[in-house]
Amino acid sequence: MPSLDQFAQEKLDDLQRRHLRRALAETVREDGIWIERAGKRLLSFSCNDYLNLTQHPAIKQAAIAAIEQYGAGSGASRLVTGNHPLYAQLEARLARIKQAEAAVVFGAGYLANAGIIPVLIGRDGLVLVDELAHACLFAGAQLSRGTVMAFRHNDVTHARELLERHRAEHDHALMVTDGVFSMDGDLAPLAELLALANEHDAWLMSDDAHGLGVVGGGRGSSFVGNSHIPVPLQMGTLSKAVGAYGGYLCASSAVIDLIRNRARTLIYSTGLPPSCVAASIAALDLIEREPGYAALPVQKAKAFTKAAGLPEAQSPIVPVIIGTEVATLAASQMLADEGYLAAAIRPPTVPDGTARLRLTFTAQHPDEQVARLAGLVRERILN
Ligand SMILES: *Cc1c(COP(=O)(O)O)cnc(C)c1O
Repeated sequence: MPSLDQFAQEKLDDLQRRHLRRALAETVREDGIWIERAGKRLLSFSCNDYLNLTQHPAIKQAAIAAIEQYGAGSGASRLVTGNHPLYAQLEARLARIKQAEAAVVFGAGYLANAGIIPVLIGRDGLVLVDELAHACLFAGAQLSRGTVMAFRHNDVTHARELLERHRAEHDHALMVTDGVFSMDGDLAPLAELLALANEHDAWLMSDDAHGLGVVGGGRGSSFVGNSHIPVPLQMGTLSKAVGAYGGYLCASSAVIDLIRNRARTLIYSTGLPPSCVAASIAALDLIEREPGYAALPVQKAKAFTKAAGLPEAQSPIVPVIIGTEVATLAASQMLADEGYLAAAIRPPTVPDGTARLRLTFTAQHPDEQVARLAGLVRERILN
């Protein structure tokens, strides 16, 4: 066997032995909540389409109209000829929702984090990352070539210790955290982190991939409980509650202008298809117009946690932590047999020993199905 294939096969065999091998399952999404896999219809509690906007008729129509007007693709980087007129509308809309001076849209949330952090932090800088933050925040931090340190999850005291000990050794410091944690569903203590950052002349960035559209009246994690925490760097994605694709950063005009000049994932990657940008604009219209609809996913998640006897949900994401990979796969299979898609999440996506079902609740999940799922989880998984 050629060494390349031998290398690949050995890696795969090792993953298989540890129950960590993954496979892509072909999935047909029928509507916002039902999917079909291997001929079986399942109610999905695993999509991040919190408002079911991927399937919304007006939003699909906006995407189709953009294809008719501007074409299927953007044809080049935004810095060359890919900057079609819909971008300015979307960026103005994002800045308004986030109460920031300006916004810039990237090809994806991952590309945003991989692009933003190295613009702000170089070899002499420090990046502090919550240990449970999304993989692409760590990827962006590594690309900066600065010193990267993880602080214990949501532990402001630990972040303070690290800043007190290390801030002076670095020219600049950046703290990054998920606003809503993607695998745990809890919220970051943004007000405390911002105060800490300000004390140490560090900059704070929140990743609101799971906040925009679903918490804080739809505005995201800086706006929970009618507060407004002025996080200077608010990034997020257009591919979850917004239902389309792309990433963004909202910040001051100066920062956004610098990012447009320097972020390599913006400069050297093709602009989004016009249809994605148009769908995002239409989705944000709906989110701003219908805050009651945007509140539904968290309401459903709270109904679930109450009925299942779990701690109250803070977001549409509810982890059911099981522990071993084998038991988690069995629980996922049991729920599939009962008609539900609840994907098993295993290391390295989550820490060793915390394999889990990650349930996501969406606006259109019927209440009686949420109640039935809660019964199954309570009776057949948690006890
Ligand atoms: C999904 C996710 C991303 C990546 O966004 P994409 O647009 O899917 O690339 C970034 N951060 C967090 C916290 C996420 O959950």
